[in-house]
Amino acid sequence: MAKISFLEELESSSTILQNYEALKEMGILEHIDKLTGEIRDLESILEHAGNLASKQSTDQIIEYMTQKLLEKIAPKYLVFIYVEDFASQAPKVQVYQNMKRVESSFSLPSFEPYRHFFTLTPQSVDFDVFVYMIDRPHLTDPFLVFSPQRIIPILSYGRPLGFVIVGKKVIDQSYTEKEFRFIERLINFGSIAFQNALHYQQAIMDVKTRLFNHSYFIQRLDEELSRTKRYQSKFSVLMLDVDHFKRFNDTHGHLAGDLVLEKVAQTIKSCIRFEDIAARFGGEEFVVILAQCTQNYAWLIAKRILYRIRETVVEYENKQLKVTVSIGLATCNSTQNVPDSATLIQRADKALYASKERGRNRCTLYHDSLDTEKIPADLSEENIYREVQ
Ligand code: GH3
Ligand code: MG
Ligand code: MG
Repeated sequence: MAKISFLEELESSSTILQNYEALKEMGILEHIDKLTGEIRDLESILEHAGNLASKQSTDQIIEYMTQKLLEKIAPKYLVFIYVEDFASQAPKVQVYQNMKRVESSFSLPSFEPYRHFFTLTPQSVDFDVFVYMIDRPHLTDPFLVFSPQRIIPILSYGRPLGFVIVGKKVIDQSYTEKEFRFIERLINFGSIAFQNALHYQQAIMDVKTRLFNHSYFIQRLDEELSRTKRYQSKFSVLMLDVDHFKRFNDTHGHLAGDLVLEKVAQTIKSCIRFEDIAARFGGEEFVVILAQCTQNYAWLIAKRILYRIRETVVEYENKQLKVTVSIGLATCNSTQNVPDSATLIQRADKALYASKERGRNRCTLYHDSLDTEKIPADLSEENIYREVQ
């Protein structure tokens, strides 16, 4: 093997040095640095895109984007204005001030003029340009309270779903090109996630009541049944039906009926926990999955719903309207044979039917699923069905 002499070594390293100097002089090293920085930025934005894609709700997406924007830059205000479907008129508004979400009374009567603007101009713009292009001060003046700097649209396949107002920085500095690029890229990926979340929400929601729909309920019921078998747990299903609703519609009209269904849905939601599932089963029938709860607790929740709906007044055309519901309750318990979803629904439905038979405006527990644990006094009758008025 040939030995490299000291002189040869010196010569080769001086060549390297010369090459290095030449590259530096030509600005190539700086260029490489810039490219490396750009690759790092792209890698980080791809990671954000992946994380955003896994979010299922618009709230989660906004929360994530805000967190990442606030980590990199510090706008005094960050405001999200968006609609949850293409038909919506009044947009939702979420305001972040000094890095924190704040309750704001800020609202816009309609998204329509902005939808129009971003359909024609589907790109981000400086606020000054936005004002100049829209040229209707009543549409842009309301945003001045947010010291706006840049407006970035949330687009779904080119159709505007909303926009983000990026306020001036907390410290009086202007944004760099790189910062703007980051904000825009993040919001662009956020827009794709946003649209996916909307599609997902629309697929599982009932439009009228904003509860989950029938098919999502069945899916969750099957999941709950598997969990019960596996983890030796228990849960209950409530089935509710508005009493004499046909008569109600005939007397007060379908619109009043629709309003009542919305109110009933809200009332049900207000009586249950976040992790419980309330769905519209169809027409004027609702179902609730009370996850991980004892039969006694389910019974109390059923009564709470029954009483609250009974007391709720719906204002319609200067009339004060009220309805009642009948409820059936069936519990699934892993210490007994776990039924399939159809059987469990059938049991809740039978109990509901018993409530109707016995005069409506009451709650009935399906007897077969009673277990040996102590149950409240008002449950301890001998009947096959248990009821409360
Ligand atoms: P019961 O106490 O036995 O349940 O009597 P009911 O009149 O409530 O039952 P029935 O099944 O005879 O009638 C249900 C009514 O619910 C008929 C239907 O027009 C009304 N309904 C179903 N879906 C809607 C809806 O989305 N909006 C309105 N306004 N009414 C609805
Ligand atoms: Mg019915
Ligand atoms: Mg009914």
